[in-house]
Amino acid sequence: MDKIEHLGIAVKDLKSANTVYEKLLGVAPYKMEEVASEGVMTSFFKCGESKIELLEATKPESAIAKFIEKKGEGIHHIAFSVTNIKAEVTRLKKEGFTVLNEEPKKGADNKWVVFLHPKSTRGVLVELCQERNNE
Ligand code: ZN
Repeated sequence: MDKIEHLGIAVKDLKSANTVYEKLLGVAPYKMEEVASEGVMTSFFKCGESKIELLEATKPESAIAKFIEKKGEGIHHIAFSVTNIKAEVTRLKKEGFTVLNEEPKKGADNKWVVFLHPKSTRGVLVELCQERNNE
């Protein structure tokens, strides 16, 4: 793991949440991007080396909608950047972590992503992300 790449925060309304985080961080989001396969609309803020990702559900069966239903708005996941996501998946599986998708999928902000189940990480959804350079 290289560093914490971003924190993902589940929000009910991206537009009003953007305003709040714009005030908090003193910058506008540098990108907004829909990930249709996950049923989410996202926006990204830079805070020094780190990033904040806000996620709003675009359909009721989205994981974000379910999360908000259960827990309300708040921190949804921690994302770590890795240089070799497949090697990390192999390593973490050996260590006994539950990998939700072994095959990396296309995430927002030009990343390959893999998620670890919160039950194997003391209640935190963990995202591994690797830069997607060539597509
Ligand atoms: Zn994320």
